Amino acid sequence: MIPDEVQCREVVNVLTDYLDGALPAEQRAALEQHLLTCEGCTNYVDQMRTSIGLTGRLQEEDVPQAVMDKVLQMFQDRLPS
Ligand SMILES: [Zn+2]
Repeated sequence: MIPDEVQCREVVNVLTDYLDGALPAEQRAALEQHLLTCEGCTNYVDQMRTSIGLTGRLQEEDVPQAVMDKVLQMFQDRLPS
């Protein structure tokens, strides 16, 4: 495992920056690499992109809490504790 591999939790943390284009190139590349191998995060990103399409621009507070809860729960279920 490479040391700077992006984990699902980090995807959640940086996704708003990523979709805003505010993420540094290195981090963005690492995140995209993660998406290639992680179906859960890919679905999550798709949901976020849909939210942006609906609102025109992404604000963290625009993400429905129910969606966040569901996604975070999904990650917790997937990750070893
Ligand atoms: Zn993931």
